[in-house]
Amino acid sequence: MRWLKNLREHLTPRRRLVIHADDSLPGTLPRRDLVVAREAAEDWAAGMQCPCGCGDALEMMLVPEARPRWHLTIDGKQRPSLYPSVWRDTGCRSHFWLQQGRVRWCD
Ligand SMILES: [Zn+2]
Repeated sequence: MRWLKNLREHLTPRRRLVIHADDSLPGTLPRRDLVVAREAAEDWAAGMQCPCGCGDALEMMLVPEARPRWHLTIDGKQRPSLYPSVWRDTGCRSHFWLQQGRVRWCD
C-alpha cells in the first residue's frame, strides 16, 4: 500500500528540522520532525520516530567516520533531506526516503 502511505504523507505538513545542541540525540524524539544533533559545528546524527507508526526511534549517523552514514542536506526553506534512503533490517523493515521534509515510501 505504498501509494496510500505516500498520499497520506502528502496530505500532512512537511517534517521540519529541529536542531539539538549536543553530540547525541535526545532521549525522546518528536512525533514527526527530524532532529539533528549538532555540536562544535558538526552534525553527528539525525533521528526521527519511524514514520510507519511503529514507535521505534531511528538514528542515522552523519559523521564521516560512521558506517553506515547518511548525508543531510537542508534547502533554502529549511527542509531536510537524507541520502541514501533509510531501510530498516529489523522491526517493521520500513524503507523510505526523506526528501525536502517529506517521507517517500519505497514499499
Ligand atoms: Zn516502523
